[in-house]
Amino acid sequence: MTQSYNAPKGTADLLGASARGWDFLQEVAREVFSRYGYESIYTPIFEQTEVFTRGIGEATDVVGKEMYTFEDRGGRSITLRPENTAGVVRAAIQARLTDNGAQAKLYYAGPQFRYERPQKGRQRQFYQVGAEALGQTSPFADAEMILMLWEYFTLLGLSKRSMRLLVNSMGDDACRPAYRDSVATFIREHSVELCDDCARRADTNPLRAFDCKKPECHAVMDSAPRINEVLCEACKQHNDTVLRTLDAAGLKYEIDPKLVRGLDYYTRTVFEVQVDHGLGSQNAIGGGGRYDGLFQDLGGKEAPSIGFAVGAERILLALEAEEVDILNRDDLVIYVAAAADEQREAAFAMTMELRRRGLTAVSDLQDRSLKSQFKQADKAGARYVLIIGEEEQKRGGVTIRDMESKEERFATPGSIVKMLVK
Ligand code: AMP
Repeated sequence: MTQSYNAPKGTADLLGASARGWDFLQEVAREVFSRYGYESIYTPIFEQTEVFTRGIGEATDVVGKEMYTFEDRGGRSITLRPENTAGVVRAAIQARLTDNGAQAKLYYAGPQFRYERPQKGRQRQFYQVGAEALGQTSPFADAEMILMLWEYFTLLGLSKRSMRLLVNSMGDDACRPAYRDSVATFIREHSVELCDDCARRADTNPLRAFDCKKPECHAVMDSAPRINEVLCEACKQHNDTVLRTLDAAGLKYEIDPKLVRGLDYYTRTVFEVQVDHGLGSQNAIGGGGRYDGLFQDLGGKEAPSIGFAVGAERILLALEAEEVDILNRDDLVIYVAAAADEQREAAFAMTMELRRRGLTAVSDLQDRSLKSQFKQADKAGARYVLIIGEEEQKRGGVTIRDMESKEERFATPGSIVKMLVK
């Protein structure tokens, strides 16, 4: 026997329920985001490595430890995208979407790649849906983005009670550098109480220490300086308007001054949605923020923007924990059964005809007995079985069996569709 293979560590095939789940997330995204004026974008799954090192930042975990980077056959450094914002911004610069103060609203859905330690809700290839509002300076854009994210989650079926929305401002070039320095100083003063990673972060990326999952670091960072106390006037005003707009829309949120997101490009508004059950420590189902400097970091003209990304695996786990049955579709499935070999061609033709008329129809292609065709019909969730036997052929029609009421009646070809749709 030749060797067989499994999917690589940290990856999973989407099939059955998980494939239907991913389809569902994309369908609802299209429905919700298009109402807000978004159009879809598909960027390459790999980019020049610099798109990510410049965009996301050298000192982040994603760039420092988690990227799938390789040299292609032409000697170029290529990286599988660890997230999609940098790629979207690269594409927008290339297509000049935001030149002369223009705006663009784009959303995407697809796989991302990070070399992380796999666990529940954490994969090496994972799937994200995300949205980016490009060239938007107003705080109303931030509020709209957060409201759209919330609407998306609720429309998917997550209950408002199960979710927590965290909001913070990370400041901008005017106020963040001094704040970063004050956190770095704080870390140096407390380095013996912190884990080695966090102690090192004083020199590389001090704000990331807020994100450490270790309880001892958590406790220490609780008394670190808070960004909301040192925001510059412009950031403060921006933040106040965002929060006021959320209040006016009736959306509940928690201000979390320790919320700093893992990618360097965020400025001002950042937000995250967490769920209370079903996910353990990987409880963030989505998040995002404003990135006013990313276009320039990637060689483009200034175009302040904001976006979010949500993780498909985690949303599906959260929906499962809440026992939301997303697969309960009321699609009408019709099974066409041939009573004997003589009717197989007629059954095949009838199945094709029903499909032409827009119905979902399946039939046996493996010469099964009538009994096992009925079993198949059950498995396919068929509401009606159309039986074609010798008698039906003679009379030029079919017997329709309602699988719920078990009633049977004869129907002529002309009346079948009308009867079924009714
Ligand atoms: P980020 O791009 O890090 O802001 O992540 C946005 C969302 O993507 C998170 O809230 C998660 O839901 C999801 N996510 C990030 N990394 C992973 C991963 N390794 N596996 C599964 N989902 C992930």
